[in-house]
Amino acid sequence: MEIAKSMELATLSHKQSSFAGPPHEALFLVLAYLPLFELLSMSEVCRSLRDAVEKDVLPWLNVIVERPLSLRLSDEILMKIASKANGRLRTLVLMYCAKITDDGLQRVIDQNPLISKLHIPGCTGLTPDGVIRALQKLSDCQDGLKSLWINGIANMKKEHLERLQFYLQTNQKLPQIQQTRQPLLYHNYRRLRAYRWEELGRVIDVELCPKCNEVRVVFDCPREECKRKRENSMTGCRMCMFCIPRCEECGKCVENGDLEETVCADTLCLDCWIQLPKCNFCNKPCCTQHANMQIASTGSIGWICSVCHDKSDDFE
Ligand SMILES: [Zn+2]
Ligand SMILES: [Zn+2]
Ligand SMILES: [Zn+2]
Ligand SMILES: [Zn+2]
Ligand SMILES: [Zn+2]
Repeated sequence: MEIAKSMELATLSHKQSSFAGPPHEALFLVLAYLPLFELLSMSEVCRSLRDAVEKDVLPWLNVIVERPLSLRLSDEILMKIASKANGRLRTLVLMYCAKITDDGLQRVIDQNPLISKLHIPGCTGLTPDGVIRALQKLSDCQDGLKSLWINGIANMKKEHLERLQFYLQTNQKLPQIQQTRQPLLYHNYRRLRAYRWEELGRVIDVELCPKCNEVRVVFDCPREECKRKRENSMTGCRMCMFCIPRCEECGKCVENGDLEETVCADTLCLDCWIQLPKCNFCNKPCCTQHANMQIASTGSIGWICSVCHDKSDDFE
């Protein structure tokens, strides 16, 4: 269920609860799938939800920390949150939690060896050795890790990646997961929430980029000619985003010389550039992710971009 929807439901049942008893049972099931921020917000809704959040183990088996909580999460707070799972933590998703250190992570792992999903992208306080240590611990456990996301951890080298892959491969369920592996497209990757990425059938998010040889996320391309190359085991444009720019809307590769200007400074391929609506003043489009940069212009059809809007304010 969409989080916005569940929140709406929550407020609704809150309004009703003063007249019609406790919130709908389905709401309690949703708790286990909410990111931390939404989970904590839910506990504000009414007493029965607060009790469910505070006293049940279930909502705490999957700890998902995203913005805006990411930047505030320290080792101590993480430890407190993780301890609510009583050692049964299954999912640990820490998106861009820069304050978390190797020791902080290790303490949580030591107490929760059943974690099967560890997503720590952009946790810049962690080191490759810290991640390896965590994985070593998790690989001792029966089920082992099924999903590991580490993009954005600094100084990750080929030899670190090999160690990580070694620990992941001690997990016997791995081969069958990799068979269902879907192409990883740039625009999907940017939009999918981290904890749904295993829908792509991948265990680890990074690999060695065939072009630059760095440990990075490597994207497939939806262009027909690039797909054909891939089927014939040619590298084609299969590279990291630093080696080849990709369209924000459709994920196709874009040659450096073909870059068209956009309002939001994101890259678009020529096809998407032509199709998207454009600013009445500067005639630049912006990607659908940044639709908030489009300001409806009074008295005419279409919109002007926030950049042109700010400029026109200066003239007045
Ligand atoms: Zn590269
Ligand atoms: Zn495109
Ligand atoms: Zn391509
Ligand atoms: Zn404009
Ligand atoms: Zn954009």
